[in-house]
Amino acid sequence: MPLPKAELHLHIEGTLEPELAFELAARNGVPLPYATVGDLRAAYDFKDLQSFLDLYYELTAVLRTERDFEDLADAYLARAAAQGVRHAEIFFDPQAHTRRGVALGTVVEGLWRALGRGEDSHGVSTRLIMCFLRDESAESALETLRAAEPYLDRIAGVGLDSAEAGHPPAKFREVYEAAAALGLRRVAHAGEEGPPEYIRQALDVLGVERVDHGLRCLEDPELVARLARERIPLTLCPLSNVRLRAVDTLADHPLPALLDAGLLCTVNSDDPAYFGGYVGDTFDAVRDTLGLTEDRLRELARNSFLAAFLDHDEERRARYLAEVEAYVFP
Ligand SMILES: [Zn+2]
Repeated sequence: MPLPKAELHLHIEGTLEPELAFELAARNGVPLPYATVGDLRAAYDFKDLQSFLDLYYELTAVLRTERDFEDLADAYLARAAAQGVRHAEIFFDPQAHTRRGVALGTVVEGLWRALGRGEDSHGVSTRLIMCFLRDESAESALETLRAAEPYLDRIAGVGLDSAEAGHPPAKFREVYEAAAALGLRRVAHAGEEGPPEYIRQALDVLGVERVDHGLRCLEDPELVARLARERIPLTLCPLSNVRLRAVDTLADHPLPALLDAGLLCTVNSDDPAYFGGYVGDTFDAVRDTLGLTEDRLRELARNSFLAAFLDHDEERRARYLAEVEAYVFP
């Protein structure tokens, strides 16, 4: 039995495995420039952030109907459950779909068909977080938030993702203020490729409650001290950092240093179909490569539930935390 954990940094579009991409392409009559599943899997071996993003957005073309999004989310929940995930807070990128003519309602309702029954079908409770593409305009983000208003019973919060460099968090001040006024939780990617200043902006300008990635905080000791003091969770994605060259190798990953600094670190898979593993695989990899002890692994699992947006259901959080404490490592 795997260690119980929550996953807090997971892009649902990044769970599209080559086999499902082919199935959906055939179902929808969408041509793919790959002859076989093997050819497509080879393309997943991209070399940098841009080649990853190119493929990532190219493949979203196969997602067209509510059923497609339902199948995508259902496949993720099955894989996540098998790796010990008990609770998942799932990102989606509405603009990646609306800009190619798929309505936001199709995306949300389709995902919700799987997520809403996730607890019954897979034993995984879920929340949905709508991300704005930071390389799109602030106006487009605001339009997206307005379009989402009919679906806010399905959406717990907002986030900020895609290419970070040159797109500081402050660009999205207005839309985050509007999201806060609607009662939405706030997170943002910051300090993955962007500087520590972007983490400060995410906290001070956008009012985020968690920082996605955030590993470049280590360049700024004062910021590290603040993150520790204020118990701001970081949602780290070590396998993603290796594939996108934020670190050279997994052995160089600063996770141990971040834990030693007293930060509330969590470990997540980001875009698992592309980055070589789901969250249980990621736990195994950091254990084996970084030599994390059972106490450290338990701490990471505990942190994942402490950092989850479960304030509306503290009883559930307590139950999950008790599962972590009771877990016996094999
Ligand atoms: Zn991410």
